[in-house]
Amino acid sequence: MKIAVLGAGAMGSMLGAYLQLGGADVTLLVRRKELADKLANPGIVMRSYTGENGEKSETDPIPMKAACSCEGLEKQDAVLIMVKGCDTKSALEGAASIIGENTKIITLQNGIGNTDIIAESVNKDNIYYGCVNMSAIMSAPAVLDTGLFGDVNVVFGSVTKDEEQKKFGDELAGIFNASGIKAAYTEDIDTEVWYKLLVNIAVNAGCGLVRLRGGEAGNDQDFTLLAVDMLKEAIAVGASCGVNLDFNYFMTHILPVARKTSGLHYPSMAQDMLMKKAPTEIEFINGAVERLGKKAGIPTPVNTTVSRLVRTIERNYDKQYKDKTAKSGPSFKVKLAEKFCKGCGYCIKYCPKHVLTAEDGLNAKGYVKVKVANEADCIGCLSCSTVCPEAAISIIKED
Ligand code: SF4
Ligand code: SF4
Repeated sequence: MKIAVLGAGAMGSMLGAYLQLGGADVTLLVRRKELADKLANPGIVMRSYTGENGEKSETDPIPMKAACSCEGLEKQDAVLIMVKGCDTKSALEGAASIIGENTKIITLQNGIGNTDIIAESVNKDNIYYGCVNMSAIMSAPAVLDTGLFGDVNVVFGSVTKDEEQKKFGDELAGIFNASGIKAAYTEDIDTEVWYKLLVNIAVNAGCGLVRLRGGEAGNDQDFTLLAVDMLKEAIAVGASCGVNLDFNYFMTHILPVARKTSGLHYPSMAQDMLMKKAPTEIEFINGAVERLGKKAGIPTPVNTTVSRLVRTIERNYDKQYKDKTAKSGPSFKVKLAEKFCKGCGYCIKYCPKHVLTAEDGLNAKGYVKVKVANEADCIGCLSCSTVCPEAAISIIKED
């Protein structure tokens, strides 16, 4: 089966690699040529932390076909969409040349609402949607730190539920299963997708607003009460859409597992808001509850408030107070342990104050040399130490 993955970030690359391991002919489509080159050669390395003592295991590099455009690609049997929801429409437009009459379009994106966007240009009989119980962070180009959780890692269904859709769904699930992960096609996909939505509602936007990791926020009583209020609204809205969700089951069986696996990380929306200053998926998570609630006449004041706060931040990244008060605030020491640095450049990319730069030449380990150039400008945002995959940077606040 020929499958193109639109949006081969961490999760898209991971899914693409598993599909290829399961026997599919996969092409990853990415924006940056340097990433496409690394995905192709040496290929994707997937690292996971397993075993009782958290030992690290890693795959050999998996060389992938990767490209920055669809030029020269044949029509595909399936296209997997893994871009952010706000980019779905443009990604589909860009991939028009590889989508034929019978090409199946699969979305495993976060949240609710992606299928409506896809249905604007694709026959609904060809649309498949679902969710993943996996985590992936691209800690260096083509290097993924991954985690698998839950009984099934990829679960999906189809908009039209008929024999033909089931046949393709089972075939696709078979490819994933042949790669060693667990996947299933189900006709009751909405329940799965809504439970995953609840996970995102409980942690994602909230962590961005309070600037905490999932585990840190989850230990705070008021944060938990806020999450409960949002969850109850979402469950009421879900019921209006014909999806029955059990609050107690979610709190005792699903949320603890999600918190355990993602507790050490900033969730994706927090990464967008704190480090990348990028558009978030708010319209597909809390914003979707707000939208569907309005349609059904169900009040959603807490999700609406959170959505409004996130939208305000998104529109005003460049004006946020931290930059402006930095000069009169405390100063910080930026310590870079060169012996651990692998020169990936993430710290340089995500530092809002350009404190770190790349120098000509290589460090003692043969990687690009990174230097602390403007320590006096450091505002202690911790973006660099958070994104550094090698824990090579520490930020020390001075009195
Ligand atoms: S902590 Fe300092 S050096 Fe690190 S990203 Fe923030 S401003 Fe840059
Ligand atoms: S310090 Fe960390 S983030 Fe920066 S280049 Fe080195 S390994 Fe990458």
